[in-house]
Amino acid sequence: MDVLREAGVAGDALEVWIDQDLCTGDGICAQYAPDVFELDIDGLAYVRGAGDELLSEPGAVVPVPLPLLTDVVDSARECPGECIHVRRVSDRVEVYGPDAE
Ligand code: SF4
Repeated sequence: MDVLREAGVAGDALEVWIDQDLCTGDGICAQYAPDVFELDIDGLAYVRGAGDELLSEPGAVVPVPLPLLTDVVDSARECPGECIHVRRVSDRVEVYGPDAE
């Protein structure tokens, strides 16, 4: 998987969270990765947890399913609010998003 090699995170489990304070509510993430992101009634994006339920707690973190990694990374890259953070589970280092090296 090229996107993993590119970031040097091959084999590492990743997780994602959204900083709702910066979310513009445009819904790009929910278009790219609807199984991971969804707009709530407040017009902001949140992550989906196990069983697809929306986690409406700000900053909630969920694992990134490997088959959806490209969609999640594209979401982080295109997010106009720069508020989608993808990080390694093991050391919480951000690998995609505004705080990535
Ligand atoms: S792409 Fe970013 S700014 Fe747009 S709805 Fe998703 S999290 Fe919010």
